[in-house]
Amino acid sequence: MEENNEKVLRTAVITGASRGIGRAIAIKLAKSGINVVIGYAGNSEKALETSNLCIEEARKNGFEIETLTCQADISTQEGASELINASLDKFGRIDILVNNAGRTMDNLLLRMDEEHFDKVIDTNLKGAFLCCQLVARTMMKQRFGRIINISSVVGLHGNAGQANYAASKAGLIGLTKSIAKELGAKGITCNAVAPGFINTDMTKVMTEDAKKGLMSTIPMKRAGEGSDIANAVAFLASEESSYITGQVLGVDGGMGC
Ligand code: NAP
Repeated sequence: MEENNEKVLRTAVITGASRGIGRAIAIKLAKSGINVVIGYAGNSEKALETSNLCIEEARKNGFEIETLTCQADISTQEGASELINASLDKFGRIDILVNNAGRTMDNLLLRMDEEHFDKVIDTNLKGAFLCCQLVARTMMKQRFGRIINISSVVGLHGNAGQANYAASKAGLIGLTKSIAKELGAKGITCNAVAPGFINTDMTKVMTEDAKKGLMSTIPMKRAGEGSDIANAVAFLASEESSYITGQVLGVDGGMGC
């Protein structure tokens, strides 16, 4: 990207980038010379690790990027504002927002308490809404923006024991399509990626039996890796995807087809 004949590096904010899928996305974007903001909830050590990996991997590809690690609970207005303001203070622009931070608090419908329902919705859905709202003006001024929301195959098909999580991920799809319609004319695209079963801390806690059962539903017969999701996100974050908006891209080895 060039402005007044000077090369300006793009900036991406990735929520939940200390580990798992978010980390893989941060590294992938850094590798193509994008400055990255690594949002996280509390795991400072892991966030710093992600930051070092991003700088290292970018350097291997010939880029000198800058990173920012920012601890902020995006489920609150205060936390989301802290993340976006800190990013703007450091980089002066936000070109890409990846709403990736997420959590599960599984239980069957009859046993799920209100607090666990609210916590999951607040992090996975409200957090994404708040971050989108906070970056929208900046992206409109830039007349460029890429918003990518990390939904889930579960948001499309539902899952027993995950009413709160599935509702949050289905909500993200509605949010994505609405934003695409509102901001398309301003050069801003908004898409969702719906991962299937990906090897991260989130899925590590599953029993071997549950994993086996799930594996039998995946046509490609393997779990995905963070890099599988990161590759899709990198495309949706690029200039090449400029005519794609309001879409949900399944990255699930065929699980949701
Ligand atoms: P993960 O390994 O559990 O990592 C979660 C990340 O979110 C961490 O960086 C965590 O920060 C951050 N986070 C959690 N709550 C937060 C909050 N309130 N504010 C800010 N950051 C917060 O998860 P993952 O498996 O990589 O999943 C990433 C996304 O993909 C999630 O939205 C998840 O729902 C979605 N997804 C995952 C799968 C899968 O199979 N893994 C499948 C479909 C969709 P700390 O490290 O500081 O705690």
